[in-house]
Amino acid sequence: MLTEQSPLLRAIPKVDQMLALPELARLAEETSLFAVTAAVRWILDGLRGKILSGQCSHTPNPIELLPLIEEAVRQRQQMGLRPVINGTGVILHTNLGRARLSEEAAKAAIEVACSYSTLEYDLKQGRRGKRAVHVEHLLTRLTGAEDALVVNNNAAALLLLLSSMTAGRQVIISRGELVEIGGSFRIPDILKQSGSILTEVGTTNKTRLQDYQDAIDPQETGALLKVHTSNYQIVGFTQQVTLEELVALGQKHHLPVIQDLGSGALFSLASCGIREEPAVAQSIQAGADVVTFSGDKLLGGPQAGIILGKKAYVSPMKQHPLMRALRLDKMNLAALEATLRLYRDPREAFVRIPTLQMLGCDLSTVQARADALTRSITAAGLPCLAQTVEEHSQVGGGSVPNQMLPTAATALRPQNLSVTELEHRLRTGDPPVLGRITKGRLLLDARTLEDRELPVILDCLAHCLG
Ligand SMILES: *Cc1c(COP(=O)(O)O)cnc(C)c1O
Repeated sequence: MLTEQSPLLRAIPKVDQMLALPELARLAEETSLFAVTAAVRWILDGLRGKILSGQCSHTPNPIELLPLIEEAVRQRQQMGLRPVINGTGVILHTNLGRARLSEEAAKAAIEVACSYSTLEYDLKQGRRGKRAVHVEHLLTRLTGAEDALVVNNNAAALLLLLSSMTAGRQVIISRGELVEIGGSFRIPDILKQSGSILTEVGTTNKTRLQDYQDAIDPQETGALLKVHTSNYQIVGFTQQVTLEELVALGQKHHLPVIQDLGSGALFSLASCGIREEPAVAQSIQAGADVVTFSGDKLLGGPQAGIILGKKAYVSPMKQHPLMRALRLDKMNLAALEATLRLYRDPREAFVRIPTLQMLGCDLSTVQARADALTRSITAAGLPCLAQTVEEHSQVGGGSVPNQMLPTAATALRPQNLSVTELEHRLRTGDPPVLGRITKGRLLLDARTLEDRELPVILDCLAHCLG
């Protein structure tokens, strides 16, 4: 065997021989000699492995190896975590980083990242200050809550509040609200982790106030918990208890009512046609003692968990030992403050915050964007049929599960390759362009695209089809 392969092995170019190629010398100047040498070694080692395992019956010459090496250098130069173009139409795509920040929020994050800051310093007093006070003031003002607290994400918010409020005691929750969010986060597990005891009441489809009432034990019960079923809906023969009813029951028994809102829209999104998402202020007004929600879902800010509620409950959480482990970092804090400042004027929020802007974008604007993309592809004469189609898209991110937004997309049908191959090439290109395949076509949904991305998409397509 080895004798058969040895001429092939001997024909493998040497590293120095490769590096002497003018193309690679130029590439080393643009990037670094280190990067190019590493890529050359990697490609040559791979080639040796293929020859030894009999997968290769011809040894490519240095010129044939060039594109492989250039590609390897390019890939190594790229960040693992990098921007993509989202043509899926899913506005809050958990795998693609959920909410896009507003420019104001991104700028605020960069500024504190690159400078020393007032993170925990009170300029007026000239001494140590409290982290997050600014954000907490904004939150209480915007929602009418007595007190506020921010942590790393909503899962952290729940863990902290349950650990602080109900450890060792029972938490009553409807069987219809034992939610799982994206794989690893399950309400029953987080309850257990906090040291609280889960008491499920009712059935999957129906839970009555009486069910909660019957489960209350004056000694053992610590709280009543309501969880927004943010990523599913139970339809048909159903009944759930309203927050108001639960609050009345809690007050009667001197038990706090906690609500996990999941998405937490700061104000009603009815103007975007979204009716099912409860607004945070409504929950506070209805008398919930503590509510929690994510910063990077419908709020459209950075990853964060927001806790609002009565001082008597929120204040002890700030002293809890878990607080240090779950606290928000300065960049997210800055981005959250900048996002919340935009909410002081709701009209401003709808213009400046990308999540709200995409939600509120009217169909004719989305259609015009899809048309512009379709036309540019047709005009470029690419070997691909492009057509604007009317579609429906999801909000995503565990928000508004049963409501689809009307949208428009550019539907692509390549002439010389399969749709799956085109999807693969666009997805693995630079920048990566993600769409969805429906009915044998690749759809690029214009609701989640920006005008500035359209020429980039055209370039990527030309590259993939060329
Ligand atoms: C999304 C969600 C969570 C988890 O929020 P993260 O910010 O991702 O930790 C918890 N509860 C509900 C109801 C949710 O929708």
